[in-house]
Amino acid sequence: MSDFDIIVVGGGHAGCEAAAAAARLGGRTLLVTHRLETIGEMSCNPAIGGLGKGHLVREIDALDGLMGLAADRAGIQFRLLNRSKGPAVRGPRAQADRGLYRQAVFELLSAQNNLQMRPGEVVDLERDESGRVVGVILSDGAVLSCGAVVLTTGTFLRGLIHLGPDQIPAGRMGEAPSLGLSQTFIRAGFNLGRMKTGTPPRLDGRTIDWGALKAQPGDQEPSFFSSLTTHVHAAQVPCHITRTTVATHDFLRENITQSPLYSGQIESRGPRYCPSIEDKVMRFPERDQHQIFLEPEGLDDPTIYPNGISTSLPEAVQAQMISTIPGLEKAKILQPGYAIEYDHVDPRELQPSLETRKIPGLFLAGQINGTTGYEEAAAQGLIAGLNAALLASGDAPFVIDRTEGYVGVMIDDLVTQGISEPYRMFTSRAEYRLRLRADNADLRLTDLGLALGCIGPVRARHFDKRKEALGVATRLLESVQATPNELARFDIAVGQDGKIRNAYALLVYPEITLDKLSAIWPALKEIDPVIAEQLETDAQYAPYLARQEADIDAFRRDESLALPVDLDYGRVGSLSTELCEKLTATRPATLGAAARIQGMTPAALVALLRFVRSKKTRAHRKAS
Ligand code: FAD
Repeated sequence: MSDFDIIVVGGGHAGCEAAAAAARLGGRTLLVTHRLETIGEMSCNPAIGGLGKGHLVREIDALDGLMGLAADRAGIQFRLLNRSKGPAVRGPRAQADRGLYRQAVFELLSAQNNLQMRPGEVVDLERDESGRVVGVILSDGAVLSCGAVVLTTGTFLRGLIHLGPDQIPAGRMGEAPSLGLSQTFIRAGFNLGRMKTGTPPRLDGRTIDWGALKAQPGDQEPSFFSSLTTHVHAAQVPCHITRTTVATHDFLRENITQSPLYSGQIESRGPRYCPSIEDKVMRFPERDQHQIFLEPEGLDDPTIYPNGISTSLPEAVQAQMISTIPGLEKAKILQPGYAIEYDHVDPRELQPSLETRKIPGLFLAGQINGTTGYEEAAAQGLIAGLNAALLASGDAPFVIDRTEGYVGVMIDDLVTQGISEPYRMFTSRAEYRLRLRADNADLRLTDLGLALGCIGPVRARHFDKRKEALGVATRLLESVQATPNELARFDIAVGQDGKIRNAYALLVYPEITLDKLSAIWPALKEIDPVIAEQLETDAQYAPYLARQEADIDAFRRDESLALPVDLDYGRVGSLSTELCEKLTATRPATLGAAARIQGMTPAALVALLRFVRSKKTRAHRKAS
């Protein structure tokens, strides 16, 4: 018998979620990471969630993952972004105390059955004669055997920090890089790429002139990530806002040759939407200021994270740049900003379960797949952990599709399109975003989790109660009705068509709230406010969702046509050489996934469909 069913390598956001998920499914799980003290470390900004990312955290929570609970416990400022827009694009976000976040993740992992944690560096994989992974090899030579491995090594694969002209091999500042595993991938013939990301200098809050700056408080009514959270756990504090100045921009232009980005020292791609301050100044010369959020890193920590000025300029240049910013004239740098380059694996090497095609039993999740961000990493970790446990116990993989969740959108994008820059979630990536809202993540996913067995008893009970309450309230709303004339007496205007409408149907109108309706039917006042809000949102989106049903049916039809893993695309005919190469490299799991590959044409899809159908018919005839 193996030492473990599943070994997860890396205690970052992907690794923690993977380990917890595998253990929730009953797999005997080991989490190996460099240092137990850095489990749950936020390498960059001290915040969780935001637009698109907040959706991912709610989905992780819906499948009983850790991130939402940990962020709620560590939250020192909650804000619902895009509040003035429709619920589909609102994004919950929380500023988190770094220490409290690490502590919360560690406590949640420690309380998880079937899960052990140990420090160590994994330098290679153990494989059997068929090439399947059967264990990991640690730097001290120890070999641990297992049924499946999840690698979540983040920015550590051949990580190289750039700070001005200095280059320091590291996975994060002060932590050694992971060199052995890059070689493992190269030997196995994986397609590796190189990306870069950066972080700003950390400032000493005691040296900032707060009086000169505008404070930004959190929301009065916090929007938590986890449906299990009932109250704030930590003191709430404001962020502050400042801006770069013309002097900052002039200074940066004068010193631009000292930036490794512009001296040619860094060649790899960074996140386009999260550029360094020197990049922003050079790329947008028409702008004479850029906003900076001064975010506290913790309640008992004077460190301030200046969000918006990541840089890899030499430390002395960073200090001068900082002094040109209002409120920061005398600010001291506690840790300089830096850029980091690292290896990632081309995500088209992966199946939708996040298992690699080249090494059976090996799953990859997080920044190693070319994504950026804690939430993207955690969501992949959850899926990889579940699938590693399913594989180890001989069960079929669990895949969330594009109509079910943002996590499905992200994984499908990665495995079918690959990446040309670090991948980050946006609401615009989801074509069914009216359906995939942050508010209904549990209603979309928790039943799937219950069927799979990854939902613990506390959440299962809570979810049951919520569904029951929604059902009771919906029936109550459907049981009371009124004519347009009766409604007009209460100042509620609908079309004068003589149609009798029930209260649920009336909620379709954005200006008609449950509060208004309870003036007519006082019994509606009894509905819990959380349930009432959900019903209002569901009712408002109902007509749009009904129209989207046909698209979703068409999507599911294409998704239900599986393409054989060993399909010889050269034999399909009518495919261009380029398309044939792309399909062979990507090996889409379904006809739908093939359709989403860049350059795919309707004619090529029809040819593929005919080929697969004729193959199936031949196989069927042979068998009968
Ligand atoms: P990580 O959080 O990096 O965790 C990797 C874990 O694996 C670590 O615990 C490490 O110790 C462990 N590990 C690695 N190799 C081994 C091994 N061989 N054996 C055992 N353990 C191992 N994201 C943004 O969205 N915006 C940003 O602005 C941003 N800036 C960043 C700046 C910097 C300098 C860095 C380092 C990251 C930045 N990120 C940013 C990325 C963000 O930190 C990651 O996306 C996220 O942390 C990825 O999570 P992960 O779980 O994949 O990896």
